[in-house]
Amino acid sequence: MLLHVCCAPDATVAVERLRMAKIEPVLFFYNPNIEPEEEFDRRLQAVVKLSQLCNLKLIALEKGKEEWHKSVADFLNLGERSKRCEECIRHRLIVTAQFASDMGYGVFATTLTTSPKKDAKLINSIGAELEKQFKISYMPSDFKKKDGFLRSVQLSRELGLYRQNYCGCLRSLQEREEKNALRARQR
Ligand code: SF4
Repeated sequence: MLLHVCCAPDATVAVERLRMAKIEPVLFFYNPNIEPEEEFDRRLQAVVKLSQLCNLKLIALEKGKEEWHKSVADFLNLGERSKRCEECIRHRLIVTAQFASDMGYGVFATTLTTSPKKDAKLINSIGAELEKQFKISYMPSDFKKKDGFLRSVQLSRELGLYRQNYCGCLRSLQEREEKNALRARQR
């Protein structure tokens, strides 16, 4: 299995649950949405650390910025959980499915469903579309279920993994800062 990893904390519980099902995934880090560059490096380093701690192979693709920007360009001003995020997720899963298919993996999946802010139904429907397009199986998931998100928080703490405080793109960072400023004014 090729497991698309959006970040180390979200991957912890996914790996734990896959291993319970006797699946040893190869981790695949492809997230050109993460900005700025220092943040990208911090999140990638956290995934490297997780792969070493779990003794799992990691493949990291450090490219795709331009293509990613094109895929969300028309929706940049929409907020989180909008069409912007749908296209961002679709882009990352297309590249994952293409890579998995080209490299002869039997199945692909994603850790994106660990986050309570992500719609597993939408993610799984994109996965199902790509399954047909790239002729490779997609494993639907909802890793946040059964306290999966809480478990990911606990495991990341235990393993000393960096946990980010915004989704990834510069717009999401801005949106987070605007929310914090509003909260501060309301106090
Ligand atoms: S908020 Fe997150 S999912 Fe949405 S476009 Fe930005 S990085 Fe992608």
